[in-house]
Amino acid sequence: MSVNQSKSYRAEGGPEAVKVKLRLFAAGCCTHPEWVTLQGGSLRSSRIPAIFACIEHPRLGVILVDTGYSAEFRKETRRLPARLYRWITPVTFEEKDRAVHQLGACGMTAEQVQSIIITHFHADHIAGLKDFPSARFLYLPEAYDAVKRLQGLSALRRAFLPGLLPERFEQRSALIDRDRQVKLHADVPFPYALDVLGDGSLLAVDLPGHADGQIGLFLSTEQHDYFLCADAAWSSRAIRENRPPHAAAEVIMPSREQYRDSFGRLVELHRCRPELRIVPSHCPEVWANWTAEGGQL
Ligand SMILES: [Zn+2]
Repeated sequence: MSVNQSKSYRAEGGPEAVKVKLRLFAAGCCTHPEWVTLQGGSLRSSRIPAIFACIEHPRLGVILVDTGYSAEFRKETRRLPARLYRWITPVTFEEKDRAVHQLGACGMTAEQVQSIIITHFHADHIAGLKDFPSARFLYLPEAYDAVKRLQGLSALRRAFLPGLLPERFEQRSALIDRDRQVKLHADVPFPYALDVLGDGSLLAVDLPGHADGQIGLFLSTEQHDYFLCADAAWSSRAIRENRPPHAAAEVIMPSREQYRDSFGRLVELHRCRPELRIVPSHCPEVWANWTAEGGQL
């Protein structure tokens, strides 16, 4: 075992991590040919889960990271031009897949969800927001600024459906503060992280390119260290084998250059922290392992 394998992502000598509990869920899935999400991939269609995370914080209760699909997605894509979204990425979704129902099956009520961290504003990450009336929304201001005035086709080009946002969305938002910078370990390939909750439990880093203001999140449970990387890569395999997606997948991206940079950081992160569990939101392998191991990724 190399020395690196036991190293934390945290800066040496920094405060100890507040440990949280983590559960992953998939709220629906969509289908893509493999070549779109993986360079040199096959023509075969693969089913891609829309994973969201449920974090139990010892002091702050239940926090979600994204929500996956919901019935609202179907409603909002009934008419053109939004209907194009369904044609481009066919979605499989049943009512029982809704985040709020899956949490309910685990004994959690919608009102218990105090906060939802939005990694970026693509429809498959925010479709369930309306189901959580007590939640405040945490995200980077530039993520919302990039989409908030978009309607119709220009919104669709950014995979954003404005009707998915709950009423009083802005009033219920608590922006992630750029002034709350903390250091990461010197060889982790991000210049700094943002301390989302102010107690060191959830550390966000910039992963722009796929969407403006996209973030990834470092967190630690009693068992493992995790990095939720949102859509900065579509699969663990793409990171392991350094195979970014085909250019066709980059058409919805505001910046291919930034995407390649963010993707490169994930490849480097995996190289220098092979034991860190990186969770792309749409990775079939992560999802299969999570369910096969009974929730112990
Ligand atoms: Zn996305």
